[in-house]
Amino acid sequence: MKYSILNLVRNSLSYHEKWQKAWSSPELKSEYDVVIVGGGGHGLGTAYYLAKEFGLKNIAVFEKGWIGGGNTGRNTTIIRSNYLWDESAALYDHAVNLWEGLSIELNFNVMFSQRGLFHLAHSVHDLQEISRRGYSNFLNGIDAELLNQEQVAEKIPYMNINGRYPVLGALLQRRAGTARHDAVAWGYARAAENLGVDIIQNCEVKGINVSNGKVTGLETNKGSVKVNKVGLVPAGHSSVLANMAGFSLPINSVPLQALVSEPIKPVLDCVIMSNAVHVYVSQSDKGELVVGAGSDAYNSYSQRGSFDMIEHMMAPLVELFPIFSRLKMLRTWGGIVDVTPDRSPIIGKTPVENLFINCGWGTGGFKATPGSAHVFAETVFKGEPSKIAAPFSIERHFSGALVDEAAAAAVAH
Ligand SMILES: Cc1cc2nc3c(=O)[nH]c(=O)nc-3n(C[C@H](O)[C@H](O)[C@H](O)COP(=O)(O)OP(=O)(O)OC[C@H]3O[C@@H](n4cnc5c(N)ncnc54)[C@H](O)[C@@H]3O)c2cc1C
Repeated sequence: MKYSILNLVRNSLSYHEKWQKAWSSPELKSEYDVVIVGGGGHGLGTAYYLAKEFGLKNIAVFEKGWIGGGNTGRNTTIIRSNYLWDESAALYDHAVNLWEGLSIELNFNVMFSQRGLFHLAHSVHDLQEISRRGYSNFLNGIDAELLNQEQVAEKIPYMNINGRYPVLGALLQRRAGTARHDAVAWGYARAAENLGVDIIQNCEVKGINVSNGKVTGLETNKGSVKVNKVGLVPAGHSSVLANMAGFSLPINSVPLQALVSEPIKPVLDCVIMSNAVHVYVSQSDKGELVVGAGSDAYNSYSQRGSFDMIEHMMAPLVELFPIFSRLKMLRTWGGIVDVTPDRSPIIGKTPVENLFINCGWGTGGFKATPGSAHVFAETVFKGEPSKIAAPFSIERHFSGALVDEAAAAAVAH
């Protein structure tokens, strides 16, 4: 059923009790052409583009919990494309271009809000970093504005410009912003199912069958399936899945935490990121402040929040915005992020034939969701990396052709 004003009115006559389910819960089939492991935005999006752009019919997404229950539903939803290197610019800007038409494409409001993002500079070094990145963005056709202290103060009046960490300037990307995280998973799931994709929740992949160097099937808690191709998109568990197939990844898995405040009236109409004081904040449409900081300093698969990180997030927030000091914080949580040595993702082939992987997005993959899914679908379908995905192969960690985005991603995304 198409979502439209007409259907809204029609369904109001039956007290909204007759809406069709957005997606169903089909039984596991014994055989699929392609299985995508991981029902986050990247995995669901991959299945959608495989069906839509490449006409594949027999596709499934296996999700061990519920769709969007991983990092897609746990992140602070910051979207931007102002990374340093050409390779990243191509990838992340491809995503922003797709974000701009996504609600219409999926017939689902993902609430993409291009409210602008200010990347603050607190020192001469910070100013040099944002200038270098801003000029690089400019050369790549990505919108970038370098602002001085006065311009920042005018645009963000409540911010403590002359505090302990004076704000000397900022890099502004106006096309950057936020989106509604769950809606991205739900929108892709609904659109993929409309094209015939089976979305199987509570289906954990526990083993990957490989014969003569080629993937042949998957073992799950719901039974075994034969497969021609598999795309692994399991975010914080990519090493676990890679180990099942007999190879390892250059990845560290760590928790990344965030928290939200009680809802308040509109006070912040943009996104703020600061590498030096290490915090990022925006205000959701519900009015909550959404706040995050750096990842935990230890490896773990725990998805819970912890007290030390609450302090790490609150101290710099209050330093920058003293007016937030009396706000109550509502809840805190964690997600597991898989971090690569150069802070760029891994998209492409694996040592196992017909087994592909899309992972290592670390603290910053939500922004890339549509772009990542789009280039990965092409990679899985063709069996070779798409042009945009090619620089992000596993091999770069052995050849040394790293795409080092540590500075652009130094604050946790
Ligand atoms: C607190 C926090 C804040 C963040 N903030 C931002 C931000 O502001 N901007 C940004 O761009 N990025 C941010 N990120 C990163 C971003 O959330 C992720 O990079 C992105 O959401 C990854 O999407 P995904 O679809 O690959 O992963 P996920 O949504 O995690 O999906 C992977 C799925 O795989 C499933 N899975 C794992 N193992 C198996 C298995 N064996 N069998 C079946 N299914 C399996 C999981 O259950 C999970 O649902 C943040 C992350 C966190 C944790």
